[in-house]
Amino acid sequence: MDEKNTLGIYIHVPFCLRKCRYCDFYSVGYSKKLLELYVRAVVRNLKHYSDKSRVTDTVYFGGGTPSLLTPLQIAEIVSNIKKYYNLSDIPEITLEVNPDTVNPQKLENFLKAGVNRISIGVQSLVAEELEFLGRTHSPEKAVKAVLDVYSAGFVNISCDIMIALPNQTAEKLRYSAEKICRLPIRHISAYILKVEENTPFFSENIQDILPDDDVTASFYTDMVDIFSSNGFSQYEISNFSKNGSESRHNCRYWKCLDYIGIGPSAHSCLNGKRFAVKPDIQDFIESPVQNTFITDENPCTFEEIAMLRLRLAEGLCLDDFPEHKDDILKKIPPYIREGFVELKNNTVSLTPKGFLVSNELISRIIFNNLNLIFI
Ligand code: SF4
Repeated sequence: MDEKNTLGIYIHVPFCLRKCRYCDFYSVGYSKKLLELYVRAVVRNLKHYSDKSRVTDTVYFGGGTPSLLTPLQIAEIVSNIKKYYNLSDIPEITLEVNPDTVNPQKLENFLKAGVNRISIGVQSLVAEELEFLGRTHSPEKAVKAVLDVYSAGFVNISCDIMIALPNQTAEKLRYSAEKICRLPIRHISAYILKVEENTPFFSENIQDILPDDDVTASFYTDMVDIFSSNGFSQYEISNFSKNGSESRHNCRYWKCLDYIGIGPSAHSCLNGKRFAVKPDIQDFIESPVQNTFITDENPCTFEEIAMLRLRLAEGLCLDDFPEHKDDILKKIPPYIREGFVELKNNTVSLTPKGFLVSNELISRIIFNNLNLIFI
């Protein structure tokens, strides 16, 4: 199947138990009634974008906290996806789970509803770090949630971990990372904490007490080593997998493949345009069709494709872009000599050392920006 002729569906579930102190994703408090109205609006929009002309091979329930939906609500959404789309026989259907919102029975019912991949927001297994982040769960609760997910019958399980927190030490990071690796999971997403505007962290000036670049770089390198020695290979700057269990849905983003986003603040890249949904739950549940605004009239340019491809360990095949090939081949030799970039079979990729300074490298290789300081 030509993957260019496939589709992904992202459903943004904008409800949370409590707002985490670092988070700038759109989410609101929830009630049973609001969830019901939200699900109705999701189904209306699934019908609106209906597309049976190509295979839908990934569905991703992200948030927010999608595990606040009941298994029946997930089943209703999945059955409408089957009704209005040509859902693959072997789709990847991911549900993001907050450890505080699930129990063994609910998890078994999510599996029956069609979910076959669970992504758990663990973030850390050190109690004071979780408290600092404003997470509602404890380390014990997170571990139990992962084991419950596994016992419910899921084999494709991912955990998120966050690094470079204030006061984090190499020992604390090692503790969380090694313990996560020992869980029955196949995928890890590891993010460096960034303090975004409009978050409590920003108002509290947490950005001033983050570890400096050198410490962050050494944490990142340690973490890559721990994951790799536990069998998780790095397939993207922040993502690691075992047994080929890459996130098929997230790979759509890095490969510039089409996806429809449904729900307040969801983004889409569809038929040559990027657009986003107004981040307003009331507007979403009241509008016959979600209100969107264009964010990019001309996505999927060479620069954008190259930038996204270089995030992936598999890299950028220059044979696919003959008009840019000579220019890139001229620029990369110094970075190859320094161990930041590799060139194999006309494919350029960043090394783990290169991933550490990916923004700078991509600017130099793709955008001709030579004014940046090379670290
Ligand atoms: S990090 Fe997740 S659980 Fe926390 S507020 Fe943001 S979306 Fe909600």
